[in-house]
Amino acid sequence: MPIARILFTLPLPEPFDYTVPEGMALEPGAYVAAPVGPYDRLGMVVEVLPDQPGTNRKLKAVTAVYDVPPMSQPMREFLVWTTRYTVSHPGTILAMALRAREALLPSPVELRYRLAGPPEGRLTPARAKVLEQAAALGLASSSELAAAAGVSSSVVKGLVSMGALEEIEEAVDLPFPAPDPDLPGAVLTGEQAAAAGELRDGLRKGGFSAYLLDGVTGSGKTEVYFEAIAEVLRADPEAQILVLLPEIALTQAILTRFEQRFGAAPAPWHSGLNPKERRRTMREVLHGRARIVIGARSALFLPFRKLKLIIVDEEHDGSYKQEDGVTYHARDLAVMRAKLEDGAVILASATPALETVVNAEAGRYTRLRLAARPGTARLPEIELIDLKRAPPEKGKWLSPVLARAMADRLAAGEQSLLFLNRRGYAPLVICKACGERLKSPGTENWLTEHRYSGRLVCHLTGYSIPKPAVCPKCGAADSLIGVGPGVERVAEEVRVLLPNARIEIFSSDTAQGGEATRGIVERMAASEIDVLIGTQIVAKGHNFPNLTLVGVVDADSGLKGGDLRAGERTYQLLSQVAGRAGRAERPGVAYVQTYAPENPAMQALAANDRDGYLAIEREVRSELGLPPFGRLAALILSAPSAELVDSFALQLAEQAPNTEGIELFGPAPAPITVLRGRHRRRFLVKSLRNVDLSAYMTAWAARLKVPSQVRLSVDIDPYSFL
Ligand code: ADP
Repeated sequence: MPIARILFTLPLPEPFDYTVPEGMALEPGAYVAAPVGPYDRLGMVVEVLPDQPGTNRKLKAVTAVYDVPPMSQPMREFLVWTTRYTVSHPGTILAMALRAREALLPSPVELRYRLAGPPEGRLTPARAKVLEQAAALGLASSSELAAAAGVSSSVVKGLVSMGALEEIEEAVDLPFPAPDPDLPGAVLTGEQAAAAGELRDGLRKGGFSAYLLDGVTGSGKTEVYFEAIAEVLRADPEAQILVLLPEIALTQAILTRFEQRFGAAPAPWHSGLNPKERRRTMREVLHGRARIVIGARSALFLPFRKLKLIIVDEEHDGSYKQEDGVTYHARDLAVMRAKLEDGAVILASATPALETVVNAEAGRYTRLRLAARPGTARLPEIELIDLKRAPPEKGKWLSPVLARAMADRLAAGEQSLLFLNRRGYAPLVICKACGERLKSPGTENWLTEHRYSGRLVCHLTGYSIPKPAVCPKCGAADSLIGVGPGVERVAEEVRVLLPNARIEIFSSDTAQGGEATRGIVERMAASEIDVLIGTQIVAKGHNFPNLTLVGVVDADSGLKGGDLRAGERTYQLLSQVAGRAGRAERPGVAYVQTYAPENPAMQALAANDRDGYLAIEREVRSELGLPPFGRLAALILSAPSAELVDSFALQLAEQAPNTEGIELFGPAPAPITVLRGRHRRRFLVKSLRNVDLSAYMTAWAARLKVPSQVRLSVDIDPYSFL
């Protein structure tokens, strides 16, 4: 009897064997239900063997097979590769690919009604009204019809029995409308057309190819990759395309642009979808009917049938790194997925990551450059404001130069954007009487004061309390004061400075969910806001034609902390923020307030010398053997007590395999030493580029059994070092 090896969507290290009942046809990639313990679970067939191997163990049988196309071979290879690379269980990765399991079933159906023929006999007024509505609506559910006509739904039933309305069973989840590649796009500029032409030629050749679309902010990267999408749509009626965007950028603006270019909105995939939207997108992807999917990083795990092109827009963006659970970098995985699918990948950015630039220079990626904005739009001037020389008044955060420039813009009817990467009112609360700094319980993290909500909040754990009236340590009344600026405090300053301005704050506190984000972006684009004050949420991809001034309140905050990419990230973030200014006819300027104007990142920013900056960054990293010139991995341990985590960390250190080309640092307290009552220790492992660090970490972790109270997690190529 044939045997199926089945991988379940459970954190298990390997597949289990089941017999295949008579008459059931199974192939690798088929989705099945089979018993694990008392329940049937969702799994995928990894392999079908003609007979039971080795032992005569009694096997259970597969319960059922889902009537959907099996997972494609490249996708299965991608799961295997990701499992190994991220040091995870294969079932965990499979679960990431099957997040909306209802997608494996056909869409639920509902009854809908439409006009059938002329009614026989006389109509009551209620029935006449329903028929009138049915004529207007075309096809509608019984409750829609009844509501529109202002009658009860029994009237609809009556009309069905008399033959005036016809009952039709319809799927609740509808397919996505097909995109049309032949609608006219923008008339491309010379350099845009050259880049699009090179992409088209490459795509026509077929096979794996990788591109870096390296263009200044607003140069038309989106228009160029639209041409690549159109080419793939035309060339193969089954080809699918995935466009990855940083989560926050999934705004109406980009969806509208897709709709204008292709006549249909793409299928969306991100954490804001409801279960019905999720199962719809996933079902259409699985069957190969969704041609274009636009999504956040997790869309990379969708089970496409034939994925021929992946675009990673803003490829340098930090949100492509998944930090919880299975840690991965969606950009790196996208390149691997394209390779396995024998497709193409386009990484687009105005400030590509050093990793990507090095790959392009080594010839692994083809580099396409867009040096100018189309038409008369120019890149903004960037000026550094030395806060040592031109400090703000005491208790304020905006230097006089910036304050004056904002007043000028308001008078001219133009918009300003202030950027400060700190939510809330003040990042630290201290007691004037005893000096106590208020910390979040079980952590070393400071509480941030939020004035709008009147609460003190821990941005690490989400812990929050109403602001106490007295100091929790010494009991002094009215002694707690906020220290340092957050966006709320800067807004307060602007309100005094420009009392007539329309001011809004844009941060994850004011823009919770897609609707609110869209609202702010739309009001800003429509010039209904004069001054927008935002955290990094404002840096990404927005187009505000009337925005001509950008002020960076504290350019130095990102440079603190011992993160290897701190300088790079600061450069990227600030040049993206500055790039919001002057995107249409009017020229823009960005003022950058800093105490470290001599810092190479700041100097390069002011000179608009990205390549100069990257050259310095490259030298430092290559000298130290850091990525992309070497590899890094982190191993984090946590346990309810410091003794427990320390003793296990020491055992683990003793067991570290002694391999050439590997350096081990630690165990050391992790930068976030205590989190939710768990004590954390960290190892950092650095290796030469040619070492398989995933294999090393797997081998190391397998040497010891992890005690049940200890948690161990591996982060290959860590970004946050927390
Ligand atoms: P990027 O993705 O490089 O930031 P976009 O593709 O968003 O740039 O283009 C910036 C703005 O310029 C958009 O409003 C876009 O519609 C417009 N644009 C780009 N290229 C052209 C063109 N060739 N003709 C007209 N408008 C263009």
